[in-house]
Amino acid sequence: MTASPSPRHATPNKSQGTGKPKLAFRPLPVPQVDVRGFWGDRAEAVATRTADILYDRCVAARMLEQIDPDQPSPGVVIPFHSPSPDEAASAGFTGSTVTTQMFWDSDLGKTIETAAYSLYRRKNPELEKKIDAVIDMYGRLQQEDGYLSSWYQRIQPGKRWTNLRDCHELYCAGHLIEGAVAYYQATGKRKLLDIMCRYADHIASVLGPEPGKKKGYCGHEEIELALVKLARVTGEQKYMELAKYFIDQRGQQPHYFDEEARARGADPKAYHFKTYEYSQSHIPVREQDKVVGHAVRAMYLYSGMADIATEYGDDTLRVALDRLWDDLTTKNLYITGGLGPSAHNEGFTSDYDLPNETAYAETCASVGLVFWASRMLGMGPNARYADMMERALYNGSISGLSLDGSLFFYENPLESRGKHNRWKWHRCPCCPPNIGRMVASIGSYFYSLADDALAVHLYGDSTARFDIAGTPVTLTQASRYPWDGAVEITVEPQAPVEFTLHLRVPAWSGNAGLAVNGETVDLEDLTSDGYAAIRRRWQKGDRVRLDLEMPIERLYANPEVRQDAGRVALSRGPLIYCVEATDNDNRLHRLTLPRTAGIEAHDEPDLLGGVVTLSATAQADAGDGWQDGLYRADPPARVETRLTAIPYFAWDNREPGEMLVWLRDG
Ligand SMILES: [Zn+2]
Repeated sequence: MTASPSPRHATPNKSQGTGKPKLAFRPLPVPQVDVRGFWGDRAEAVATRTADILYDRCVAARMLEQIDPDQPSPGVVIPFHSPSPDEAASAGFTGSTVTTQMFWDSDLGKTIETAAYSLYRRKNPELEKKIDAVIDMYGRLQQEDGYLSSWYQRIQPGKRWTNLRDCHELYCAGHLIEGAVAYYQATGKRKLLDIMCRYADHIASVLGPEPGKKKGYCGHEEIELALVKLARVTGEQKYMELAKYFIDQRGQQPHYFDEEARARGADPKAYHFKTYEYSQSHIPVREQDKVVGHAVRAMYLYSGMADIATEYGDDTLRVALDRLWDDLTTKNLYITGGLGPSAHNEGFTSDYDLPNETAYAETCASVGLVFWASRMLGMGPNARYADMMERALYNGSISGLSLDGSLFFYENPLESRGKHNRWKWHRCPCCPPNIGRMVASIGSYFYSLADDALAVHLYGDSTARFDIAGTPVTLTQASRYPWDGAVEITVEPQAPVEFTLHLRVPAWSGNAGLAVNGETVDLEDLTSDGYAAIRRRWQKGDRVRLDLEMPIERLYANPEVRQDAGRVALSRGPLIYCVEATDNDNRLHRLTLPRTAGIEAHDEPDLLGGVVTLSATAQADAGDGWQDGLYRADPPARVETRLTAIPYFAWDNREPGEMLVWLRDG
């Protein structure tokens, strides 16, 4: 056992770091934030339905048979993807072929994490018992030397550490580590945490910068950010060092994936995805300036880089991250916070290529953007990151979960002819537990805490409890956000205490007003990087009122985005809107929204769990006189019609039908 008996949120000793730690803001742990209102409803759906569903579907997929050493191995349940012809022709080990069954450990890790975070909200002894049993199986499965991979132990024994490029070995370890950290924090049970510490120690004995160790890293990033969590929870700096090694080593020459392929008798060039851009390992991370390859991998890598930048005060990483952030947000991001337009590489293509109907925009990628953005906030409050985190949270990520918590999207297109509907499960079930764990842990994205400051990144009915300068403080938000921009914050320190309260002022809010204990404060004076900083000696009952105007906005895309030319999208506050067939009389592609049209907001408490809809008088191309032909010289007549839009995240929760985000602009 390597983890010291430390508190559940230890701070690693940074004396071995390479630089001065930045002003580190750490997210508040999930149990310290109670969410109500909008996110309360979402988290409740996950706690009451999704968490159980995830476990049941993992069982139905036969995952437990694979990890339980007391049962016969299920063998290959999900066939290998067909290798490319040159791969198939190459001699030796055919490890370049992949089946999603290889990463079942990751699905279980995320399922454990979702269950853990849900247990904070709602006790569920039955589910806890089931998860305990899964953890016992992993305990029995773990090898003497600490190694733990159900795939390599049960299906392909003898092949461990031979194909990091394709086979997700460290990725699986990362998700089990995240599950272990969450379960420990939720239940106080350290069994899985101890198992994963032993495995992390084993990994460090095999891979690393020291002579004699493999110079490898994972083709699918994830272990990096997981090791940072492990270091933070155990106080063990060695896990931080291992995370840093994986970041530093990525893309170095000689290229590990080349050497590894040769070692197993394969031609490095016989690689299905042709380029190491696919896994962001084409060049060292500090030289990268374009978001490339598989979108989820990219987001997880940048998340790990941001953690290491924060922990080590490493500005060389921060500079690279800011370049990548610019590239993503100015050229490669959907308006919903979705990313990765192509199904082929589940990732990025070329700048401004943002097709709507065929958008891949995997739920996991948007969740990954939330992870990355939240970690950029570790280096200090900055609305540049937090606004985008909010965009991805409220739109492109939670669109992946039905309102009742039982059905899922893998792809999140911005246009549908009515055939894109939610899944019960997926052949590659990465998205369901990813959105599950994100929603279940939403409280930790609301706030982050530094030595003498608390930053409020997200607004909504919630209560946070934290210690600052040794004084326990309760901070309560009362708000109908995201439907209304009025936020009333009450600060209740046990004894008067001085600290800075940073409040995000979103870029979308036209006018914002701030008052402390009823006295208006000049917001502009206090605001930098999009956050108002209120420093004072806080007393019990101090009240801060933030009024964010929520204008309805028409948004236009850069003219380089060919798919959005001549089109307009609607937003209100953090929400992007779409039109659905069920609310509109006409085929959606026939609608035009005139620039002069007045757009109204309506509170609809009984619709879709309570939403604000938008409506306007629009125009529709009439179908009259077109029965006999496909083309003619006269344009179609235009008729007046009523257009109703709902928040994008809530689409496909009623009868299936067409959906459209980008409307024709008239
Ligand atoms: Zn996914």
